Amino acid sequence: MTTTTTDVKTLEARHVLQTYKRLPVVFERGSGARLFDEHGRSYLDFVSGIGVAALGHGHAGLARAIGEQAATLAHTSNLYFHPLQGELASRLSALTGLDRAFFCNSGTEAVEACLKFARRYWHTKGELTRTKYVAFTHSFHGRTLGSLSVTWDEHYRAPFQPLIPGVTFVSASDPAELQTLVDASTAAIIVEPIQGEGGVRPISPETAAAISAACARTGALLIADEVQSGSGRTGEFLYSPAIGLEPDLVALGKALGGGMPVGVAMMRDKVAETISAGDHGTTYGGNLLACRAALVVLDELDGGLQASVRRTSAHLFAGLRALRARHKSIVDVRGAGLMAGLEMAADAAPLVTAALERGLLVNRTATTVIRLLPPYIITEAEIDEALAVLDDAIGSCI
Ligand code: PLP
Repeated sequence: MTTTTTDVKTLEARHVLQTYKRLPVVFERGSGARLFDEHGRSYLDFVSGIGVAALGHGHAGLARAIGEQAATLAHTSNLYFHPLQGELASRLSALTGLDRAFFCNSGTEAVEACLKFARRYWHTKGELTRTKYVAFTHSFHGRTLGSLSVTWDEHYRAPFQPLIPGVTFVSASDPAELQTLVDASTAAIIVEPIQGEGGVRPISPETAAAISAACARTGALLIADEVQSGSGRTGEFLYSPAIGLEPDLVALGKALGGGMPVGVAMMRDKVAETISAGDHGTTYGGNLLACRAALVVLDELDGGLQASVRRTSAHLFAGLRALRARHKSIVDVRGAGLMAGLEMAADAAPLVTAALERGLLVNRTATTVIRLLPPYIITEAEIDEALAVLDDAIGSCI
């Protein structure tokens, strides 16, 4: 095994496609909300693998379940039944109010599946030209071509044009626009109830009401991308109901697997009924390892973790508001649950570095926003520790 930082960096520089700008740290192990680098230095993790490690790192129950499952049966493909997909689907159905699950392996695949199922819905109904999508400014839905087509930022899109035609972006802050731009050619509206990569921007209840009205008026399907905001992140399993959205399809990913790659497209029966065997599929989707991990995460949420997210969220946001009162460079505090954004007056990259140097992992998004996505197991004491580090780091950056 390669252990020194230099070896790791040299090998990567030579052989790994350079699509990521990594921070200069090599993590070797984790425990709870902390990661440890190759020198044994500890970092408090308020990134959790970009909203994935819901149960923190080295979670004994998750590790045991994955280990047992790997030793029993890890993967069989979707050619056969296994005992866990139906169980997970029924649990997700109860949590989301949606009838059926299609399992895949990542957020972008879940979005991709939702986009395809929306088109399939109208195709089955004989409306063959109803193929368009309406998405929002500041949206991020993933990197595959379909998801990228409904992702707003030109920086992600430009090198890969032409993308899927027929996508219109409307301003999330101008609900009136929706009424003119959603029409009988719109297959679906796709929205992140809290825009994550776009800067932790919750959709306002007014925009949510306009989305519901546009769907009711035209029959367009509603896809909620809850890859980041879902799976308990905001204190409820989904964030859509909090703002009055009633999606026909929901994309889930990230925290649901607690670190195992899991994606799911949940849908109403009215959509599921229009989809036939063979219309969509994936080799790995819903394999035993992934399902077992997701079931552990759901068990933990049921067993008190969801309530804990609500409690620690209140503590986090109270602390962030106090921080804002102390620092003029913080211009806004946004988010819900354990998904928080600190909008800074300038580029937040130096703050990420200053926090890293002080043993705290945070992430920058939309240039000026510090995003906090701690694991759900975070404690109030750890939140206080992170706030103290941020306080000091912000002071050092001015
Ligand atoms: N949708 C949203 C809202 C996301 O935040 C992300 C990833 O950040 C994705 C989709 C894509 O997920 P993945 O990176 O797992 O493909």
